[in-house]
Amino acid sequence: MPAFDVAIAGAGPAGTACAIQLARLGRSVLLLHQATGRPQPGEALPPAANRLLRELGVMEPFLAGGHLPCFGNQSAWGDDHLRSTDFLSAPDGHGWHIDRSRFDDMLRREAAAAGVALDRPGVPYQARWLVDCTGRAAVVARACGVRRRVYGTLTAFLALFELRHAAADPDCLTTIEAVETGWWYTARLPGGRRLSVYYTDAHSRTATLARDVSGYEILLARTRHVAPHLRAYRRIGVPIAMPAHSSGLEQLAGADWLAAGDAAIAHDPLSSLGISAAILSGMRAAKAVHRSLEGDQDAIPGYASWMRAGFQQYLHQCVAHYAAERRWPHSPFWRTRALTPEFHSQREPDTDPSAAPAGCAG
Ligand SMILES: Cc1cc2nc3c(=O)[nH]c(=O)nc-3n(C[C@H](O)[C@H](O)[C@H](O)COP(=O)(O)OP(=O)(O)OC[C@H]3O[C@@H](n4cnc5c(N)ncnc54)[C@H](O)[C@@H]3O)c2cc1C
Repeated sequence: MPAFDVAIAGAGPAGTACAIQLARLGRSVLLLHQATGRPQPGEALPPAANRLLRELGVMEPFLAGGHLPCFGNQSAWGDDHLRSTDFLSAPDGHGWHIDRSRFDDMLRREAAAAGVALDRPGVPYQARWLVDCTGRAAVVARACGVRRRVYGTLTAFLALFELRHAAADPDCLTTIEAVETGWWYTARLPGGRRLSVYYTDAHSRTATLARDVSGYEILLARTRHVAPHLRAYRRIGVPIAMPAHSSGLEQLAGADWLAAGDAAIAHDPLSSLGISAAILSGMRAAKAVHRSLEGDQDAIPGYASWMRAGFQQYLHQCVAHYAAERRWPHSPFWRTRALTPEFHSQREPDTDPSAAPAGCAG
């Protein structure tokens, strides 16, 4: 049976970043990759991601990936007027609108080039550490009986569009618009495509409407700033619903496992933090595991408390951002958004610890 220092479940941004970093620290790494069969959400990279991609040593292949530059955000939040944030004055330069599957493929190729072994889950192996990078599913942590705390029921309804023949779209900004029942987001994607996403609470009346194509189009047509961006496009497929609320594991590590990326802590997409936070936590988790294997007993607790402190700070920033929208005090969506994170916090139901894979002690 092949033996590794570290096995990583999940080959998204967190898992690949963790694998690349561990391999460069001289560790033998197995990266277990299993596609979910659904498109991965997330295509906006803020300027700060440039620094992370450079630190991970993947800037050159990233730049060859044909991703689109994003020069800023414009948002109608708090009132009906669009306000712009220009990235050009940011110290890290402009952000990006990426082709997400090409981005993840590039990271997996870089991991393989760094010496990481890639395989499917289910192959027999031995490893001294297991890192859970399986996204919101947090497969390893849940199998170890660890529960997840969720904050609210924010749900995303994503629709993909393609540019009509001979049409052009020079827009290089991300547009965000608050509406009475939630908020919208649109951005161009590489390859003549555009995305629109509607965010609302899972059990709201408009969530029921958005699950249906014609309902989604009615809601979209009511927007003032998002709908005009889609006039030159036609929709591909039907809207897809997915969870978008903040959530985090109650325990981020055990005796021989730890979690990184969305598996550990998932962010509300309003923050644009997801992919960058996944890469950063993957790299930090790698350093913590490496130091722990060298005998440093503070490495894993240090990683866990760094993650927790960042999450608390983020939760309060998130509430402050939502509280800046005061136009609809009677809307259930906005009324609950202004409350403290503790108000929204709930435990997910118990998991079945008997499903724990080998290596789930503590
Ligand atoms: C609607 C929406 C929009 C978003 N928009 C943005 C955005 O614009 N910008 C941004 O930065 N972030 C965005 N995010 C967040 C972003 O998608 C995530 O933060 C990011 O993908 C997390 O990376 P990860 O590697 O932790 O997890 P993931 O990207 O979820 O990767 C997990 C991987 O694990 C695999 N996996 C699952 N189960 C198993 C298993 N049992 N064994 C092996 N592998 C397994 C999955 O197939 C996947 O490849 C958005 C999120 C949502 C919901």
